[in-house]
Amino acid sequence: MSAQLIDGKAFAESLRQRVGEAARSFAQAAGRKAGLAVVLVGEDPASQVYVRSKHKATIDAGMESFEHRLPADTGEDALLALVDRLNRDPAVDGILVQLPLPGHLDEQTVISAINPDKDVDGFHIINAGRLSVGQDGFVPCTPLGCLMLLKDRLGDLSGLEAVVIGRSNIVGKPMAQLLTDANATVTIAHSRTKDLPGVVRRADIVVAAVGRPEMVKGDWIKPGATVIDVGINRLPPEPGREKGRLVGDVDFASAREVAGAITPVPGGVGPMTIAVLLRNALVAAHRNEGLAAPANL
Ligand code: NDP
Repeated sequence: MSAQLIDGKAFAESLRQRVGEAARSFAQAAGRKAGLAVVLVGEDPASQVYVRSKHKATIDAGMESFEHRLPADTGEDALLALVDRLNRDPAVDGILVQLPLPGHLDEQTVISAINPDKDVDGFHIINAGRLSVGQDGFVPCTPLGCLMLLKDRLGDLSGLEAVVIGRSNIVGKPMAQLLTDANATVTIAHSRTKDLPGVVRRADIVVAAVGRPEMVKGDWIKPGATVIDVGINRLPPEPGREKGRLVGDVDFASAREVAGAITPVPGGVGPMTIAVLLRNALVAAHRNEGLAAPANL
């Protein structure tokens, strides 16, 4: 039997519409638009594409977008001075520093300089701490997007067995925390896990965030499980093609024969990340103005 497709693109579109409506109400109530600042250092082509799409999405949602492009040789002092200015600018509700930074800049130092209440990426150590003790803060966009897709598909996650493959600070660990908070029973797997197929086979929910193309095979999946594929990997181009295919960390063809539901790549988790970023920025704006954010965000 073929799994149902979890349409992240459609879900992200509906979230962006809700954000757009809420952004209009916010502008009326606050007398200004919500504002998101994005800082890009250097000319990494993938980062340029991401920053462009974040800028467009922010404008489309009826929010103010402040773009700061700095040369690749920008020193740490200059970057920290910009972050400080953005921290103090009342028109800026959210600050995102596009990663990776050029090698001479220490990412942790820069992220730690962002006011945690404007850290809409949720990467600041204060926000990681807030998530781990169950306080309101900002949660990294990709895992929060995955949780939204899971709740939309499954409703209550209480008591379900979840396996998260990957333990990075930006995806795996916050994902495991969110699932634990949603009362799932969570296993975190990683490169040292013994018998990964056996561990994955126990799971009602599988979240793969590994960065290895098509690693998770269909015969690892428990029949009927819900599979969230975070991976974005480009395969080498086939003969005569300029670009290789984009694939996830899950072998989609075999997994869809066994799973109950699965996210495709592309069109699954990917579109959720920017939609959740806009959502986080708008929540930040409400908090900064002492307003309650709409419950449907
Ligand atoms: P990282 O490289 O930071 O982490 C990868 C994790 O996978 C590590 O914890 C690593 O284990 C684990 N791992 C590596 N090899 C294996 C293996 N053979 N078996 C089990 N576990 C393994 O990656 P990210 O978390 O940043 O990203 C993961 C994937 O998600 C990537 O494909 C990335 O492109 C994608 N991504 C997609 C986003 C989106 O918007 N959809 C956003 C962010 C990421 P260990 O800790 O032991 O080394």
